Amino acid sequence: MTNSKKIRDFLAERRPTPYVVVDLDIVADNYRKLKDAVPQAGIYYAVKANPAPEILDTLAKLGSSFDTASVNEIDMALRSGVAADRISFGNTIKKQSDIAAAYARGVRLFAFDSEAELEKLSQAAPGAKVFCRILTSGEGADWPLSRKFGCDPAMARELLIAAASKGVVPHGVSFHVGSQMKDPNAWDAAVAQAAWLFRECEDAGVQLNMLNMGGGFPTKYRKDIPTMGSYGAAIHAALARHFGNRVPEIIVEPGRQMVGNAGTIDTEVVLVSRKSKTDTKRWVFLDIGKFGGLAETMDEAIQYPIVSAKKGSKVERVILAGPTCDSADVLYEKADYRLPIDLVAGDRLEIRATGAYTTTYSAVAFNGFEPLKCYCI
Ligand SMILES: *Cc1c(COP(=O)(O)O)cnc(C)c1O
Repeated sequence: MTNSKKIRDFLAERRPTPYVVVDLDIVADNYRKLKDAVPQAGIYYAVKANPAPEILDTLAKLGSSFDTASVNEIDMALRSGVAADRISFGNTIKKQSDIAAAYARGVRLFAFDSEAELEKLSQAAPGAKVFCRILTSGEGADWPLSRKFGCDPAMARELLIAAASKGVVPHGVSFHVGSQMKDPNAWDAAVAQAAWLFRECEDAGVQLNMLNMGGGFPTKYRKDIPTMGSYGAAIHAALARHFGNRVPEIIVEPGRQMVGNAGTIDTEVVLVSRKSKTDTKRWVFLDIGKFGGLAETMDEAIQYPIVSAKKGSKVERVILAGPTCDSADVLYEKADYRLPIDLVAGDRLEIRATGAYTTTYSAVAFNGFEPLKCYCI
């Protein structure tokens, strides 16, 4: 993947590193591509992927709604000018006081996946629409969300039926197939389970109206990904297969797909070294690492394209690491990264496709390093 001209020009100005620069035109383009692929779906951008105000403003103008995980994220979404009815409180783990604070701001759409959370919603959000998240396998995702979120469909059935008698509105079902999902067919099994839940609830006299198909849409890193259109087609087919002509209101919650490829990190090489005279791999230490925003390099799960401006020089395998005094701060040791043999301290590298999950993962001052700056252009 290449940089846009806007980003190329910005990088040429050589600001102090590290920082991420995000091209808002690419964000807008990603929004349109998703809208084209799933025209029937309401788009709720997952604010946690990158909450820069310029990004939220851009998406709000395009008609996006927002998926939030905390009262702070709700306030960020509100600052973009959207009404509270375009905000979902999608975290299944909320303090009751935060539910009340969201409710006071006008938010009326809440996620839950347990009896205790439903109880909190019943206390602090009377009359709100609630949706129950079901477990998925996460298979095929580079960043699976594991078993932390969602409950077994049989439990979801009981909870949704119970919700009706607890002063909240049982509105629908949600799931997340896992982040950076490279298999467009991954939605099918979850849609089938959701359709089963819709039928079961209807049999019990509870009419559900909304299916939230979560995020998981990928951005391109080092490897090619299926087109947005193939995700749209697979989702459309799954809905037709399992809901027939009674497809409910649909929501998607993209994070990575919306902003990932819109950002590039500018970083400086701090040190190039070898551990012995015969060491075949150089260690390249950057001024950004796991604690500066590259947390998704954990287990080398997300492999960003890394590019040197030193064109034409011979390349050789490297181990890439961050600048902190923490041994966990190694980015890539097993993955095959090659950089020019004449790379030296002071050279810059571009870490591409870093618009998602970087600023939000950066520590405030671990080892005294500043949090990752974000320029939106
Ligand atoms: C993180 C998150 C998303 C966004 O996931 P992506 O894989 O980045 O699209 C969507 N919904 C919920 C509930 C999330 O927690």
